[in-house]
Amino acid sequence: MPVTHIKNYIGGKLLDPVSGNWIPNYEPATGNVYSEVPDSGEQDVANAVDAAEVALETWSRAPVDERVDVLHRLADLIDQNREELVAIESRDNGKPENLARMIDIPRCSKNIRFFANLAMGMASESHTMPDAINYTLRQPVGIVTCISPWNLPLYLFTWKIAPALAAGNCVIGKPSEVTPMSAFRFSELCIEAGMPDGVMNIVHGSGAVTGNALLEEPRIAAVSFTGSTQTGKHIASVVSPQFKKLSLELGGKNPNLVFADCNYEPMMETTLKSSFANQGQICLCGSRILVEQSIYDQFRDDLVQRASQIKVGDPQAADSVLGAVVSQPHHQKILDCIELARSEGGNVLCGGAAATVGGRCQNGWFIEPTVIEGLPNDCQTNQQEIFGPVVTLQPFDSDHHALELANATRYGLSATVWTQDVSRANWLADRLQCGVVWVNCWLIRDLRTPFGGFKQSGVGREGGLEAMRFFTETKNVCIKYL
Ligand code: NAD
Repeated sequence: MPVTHIKNYIGGKLLDPVSGNWIPNYEPATGNVYSEVPDSGEQDVANAVDAAEVALETWSRAPVDERVDVLHRLADLIDQNREELVAIESRDNGKPENLARMIDIPRCSKNIRFFANLAMGMASESHTMPDAINYTLRQPVGIVTCISPWNLPLYLFTWKIAPALAAGNCVIGKPSEVTPMSAFRFSELCIEAGMPDGVMNIVHGSGAVTGNALLEEPRIAAVSFTGSTQTGKHIASVVSPQFKKLSLELGGKNPNLVFADCNYEPMMETTLKSSFANQGQICLCGSRILVEQSIYDQFRDDLVQRASQIKVGDPQAADSVLGAVVSQPHHQKILDCIELARSEGGNVLCGGAAATVGGRCQNGWFIEPTVIEGLPNDCQTNQQEIFGPVVTLQPFDSDHHALELANATRYGLSATVWTQDVSRANWLADRLQCGVVWVNCWLIRDLRTPFGGFKQSGVGREGGLEAMRFFTETKNVCIKYL
């Protein structure tokens, strides 16, 4: 079967890369190459920025309702093409179609509508003095780049570009080269929605070549990045000396704190999701489960029993709860992490190996849900992000002990607390070193709330007004009365 050539989206046109070179794109469930991604370089990036420069004056000064209308048309088109996008996202990433249908694709149109509506209601401050008035202008930064990862491809791509566009910037987006397909379809929808040429551009390619060309391009004024802490460190080192605005959403090693007084059944049901949803490839997954000693044995036995029954299967099958992990290298990385856990003395209670799925998926990259106990918090397994369907269990014997274990990591993205004691919940919420704390729930998201991480999980915040502020420069204007 001929492979699809994905195209760049530059100046309103779908274009091949200048180099004529392509990167293979795999279907994780089968291990087959089914499309090719442009291997874009400096010239493609320069062409996209040229187009954005031409578009910027008109777009940034357009009446806000003109920008908002385009964004609403785009959101409507995403909804109208939902089933096609579900199939694309599942095939490209390996996630079950059901998950893409319930979470990923509905969130893309929601992201776009949310920021369009927010832009309509944006106001700025004024500060009066006896003899003068100050008012604040919030102006678009200019040309910005949005670089996104492979775990929630179009969901996280739109989460960045929607506020950037709504605030009046022109965007050069770079989706992950591992999952480029939904962004390619998105570029066609941008054209259909009547997005003015050059306002939204998408340049595909590897991080090392295309990504670096974006970081080095002097006309790009801001970089919004979501990905690994390691890449974030590199990006900061390149971008900071150029004094570009920089937002970093990075990795996590999130604790899930389970107290004996929790409402047990909802806790267990949600813990299965926070451990394994999207094959454990969500930055917010609770990969370190901390359990109060008095219920540790019961919790462990129940979790293992239920994790062992999770159906790992063809992402297209309606009964698959877990699909394939995203790539062969990532599959190997997760298996290596499990071996490391064994060598560190971990006891693998269930899973611990590649899962075999037959039929068309016999060569796909699947992993069994894996639960490990018996490791100290400071070992590599409990300190490094695995980003797969792998969790560890550790007992704790007091609130202080739970807090100490939870905070003993270089990451600080999120934490989940299961308790019915409201004082304990508030005490922990105050002291947990992370950007998001969920109490008796997980992954409930209100798009108005700030989102981001402490420590090596990131710099800056996305979400609501925080995102609109990142994508604007503030200017104070002071006028003396007489
Ligand atoms: P990654 O860092 O390998 O890649 C992310 C993006 O950066 C890709 O588009 C990639 O091509 C690009 N990139 C890589 N090297 C680059 C470079 N030198 N210059 C510019 N761009 C470059 O991350 P990944 O493997 O795609 O995603 C998984 C990681 O993302 C995990 O660590 C996960 O925790 C993190 N993540 C964080 C959040 C969050 O909101 N904090 C959300 C999702 C994923």
